[in-house]
Amino acid sequence: MKDEIISKIENFVTTSGHNKLPDTAIKIYNLPRIGFADVNNELFGSYKQKIGSFHLTPKEWFKAEFEDSLPNGTVICWILPFTETILKSNYLERAFPSKEWAQARFYGEQFNNMLREFVVGLITKIGYRTVAPALSSNWQRVYVDDIGHASTWSERHAAYATGLGTFSLTDALITECGMAVRVGSVITELVLEPSPFLYKGIHDNCLHYNSNSCGACIRRCPAGAISLNGHNKDLCFEYTRRKVMPAVNEAYGVTTPSCGLCQTRVPCERSIPKLPKLKSK
Ligand code: SF4
Ligand code: SF4
Repeated sequence: MKDEIISKIENFVTTSGHNKLPDTAIKIYNLPRIGFADVNNELFGSYKQKIGSFHLTPKEWFKAEFEDSLPNGTVICWILPFTETILKSNYLERAFPSKEWAQARFYGEQFNNMLREFVVGLITKIGYRTVAPALSSNWQRVYVDDIGHASTWSERHAAYATGLGTFSLTDALITECGMAVRVGSVITELVLEPSPFLYKGIHDNCLHYNSNSCGACIRRCPAGAISLNGHNKDLCFEYTRRKVMPAVNEAYGVTTPSCGLCQTRVPCERSIPKLPKLKSK
């Protein structure tokens, strides 16, 4: 069953006519990576401390959606890596995203919603109740003083629990196919074997944390929202919502809540970056 789900998701992404920028042949996403976590994985409970009590566990999501308990089940996540054309289009940008990046973020998220619906339909059809939190009326954005903008389900944290990647200095996820990705997830009562979890810590893949080097994302951010202390969500939110969104809306007719500069032209853009070589004495 697991192989069949992986193959159907891959097929959806590689063959769908919606996985491209409108009126062009430019593909938005490459082949996805897919991970599985047990709904009883302790990480989900720990997110209540890490993110906030408003963040729901998979079991709470199931209860809210179906008014039923979920003794066992699976969180399925996928990573959608942006194609090279989309990434390279952003390389020379310094303040706002390229047209291709802005459109890929906008139409790419619409495509991600289609994929969420597809996966919910696929598993529901074989008799297992399934919810995509991002599409549910129970999904809410919240603002908390000490952590900033958050929501009732973090797909990045779900993806971390499925072993798909670890967090970066920018709070994004550095995966096997890099940091320039989008994430999607569903929660299902279908029980599937969890993916291997190979990380020792939440920042394993980021050069800043594993070798005290890099910081390329700090230099790329036009809002000064990234520092050695991490990602300032408020500064990023203000810049992307108040400056980027109106600018790309006027220029390209899309509302894109990210400039993506910190995700492109950085060593972790398309893969887990290699540790720097030690200098010989
Ligand atoms: S650019 Fe460097 S410091 Fe920033 S997230 Fe990537 S690896 Fe970490
Ligand atoms: S999305 Fe843009 S503003 Fe936000 S942290 Fe990245 S580079 Fe900075």
